[in-house]
Amino acid sequence: MSNNSQSLQREGALFVISAPSGAGKTSLCKEIVDIIPGLRHSVSYTTRPMRKGEVDGVDYHFVDADVFAGMVAADAFAEWAEVHGNRYGTALATLDNARQTGCDLLLDIDCQGAIHLKAKQVQGVNIFILPPSMPELERRLRERQTDSDAVIERRIVNARGEIAQAGWYDYWVFNDDFNLALEQLKSIITAETCRAARYRGVIEDLLR
Ligand code: 5GP
Repeated sequence: MSNNSQSLQREGALFVISAPSGAGKTSLCKEIVDIIPGLRHSVSYTTRPMRKGEVDGVDYHFVDADVFAGMVAADAFAEWAEVHGNRYGTALATLDNARQTGCDLLLDIDCQGAIHLKAKQVQGVNIFILPPSMPELERRLRERQTDSDAVIERRIVNARGEIAQAGWYDYWVFNDDFNLALEQLKSIITAETCRAARYRGVIEDLLR
C-alpha cells in the first residue's frame, strides 16, 4: 500500500501552533508546509491591512470590520480573537473542508484562539514555539527594525504573558537553531499523523 493510499483512509489532523512574536513561528510554518506533503496552511480572516508582499486568499482573507462582524454574528468562526488591535478568525468552513477532504491543516493562531478551540473540544495537536531565552527574543525583535521602542517593549510584555500559557500545550519546540527546530516540528507532525487512532478500517482492508 502506498503512503498516499494510507493517507486517504486517515482523517485529517489539525496542528495548532502558537508563539510569541519573535520566536520564529511564521518562518517555521511557511517552511513546514513546503516539506510535509498534504499539510496545508489554514487561511484565516483578518481585519489587519495587507502588508507588502502578502496575497489576499493566500496569506489571509483580508476583510473589513463590517464583514468580520457579520461573520461573527453568523457564527461562521470556529474561533476568533483580537490581536494587536486587529481581529483574526478561523472559519468553521476551513476546518470542515479539511476534515472532509482528509487533509492535514496547520493553524498559526494566537494563544487566545488555541484556548477557544480547546474549550470547544476541537481535537488538535497543540504546539508552542519558544525562544531560547528572553534576551534572545528581545534581540530578534530589535533586529527586525520595523517597530518603535514602545512597540518592542509592548511585544516583550505580551510575549511574557504568552509564554506563561505554554504549559497546557502538547509540544514545545525551542527555536534556537532554525533547522533543528524545523526538524523537531517535522518529527512531531509526522509522528502525530501516524497515530493508529487516526486510521479507520485500514487493518480490515489490509487483511481482506
Ligand atoms: P500577523 O498579523 O503578524 O500575521 O499575526 C498576528 C498574530 O495573529 C499571530 O500571533 C498569529 O498567529 C495570530 N493569528 C493569525 N490568524 C489567526 C486566527 O485565525 N485566529 C487567532 N486567534 N489568531 C490568529
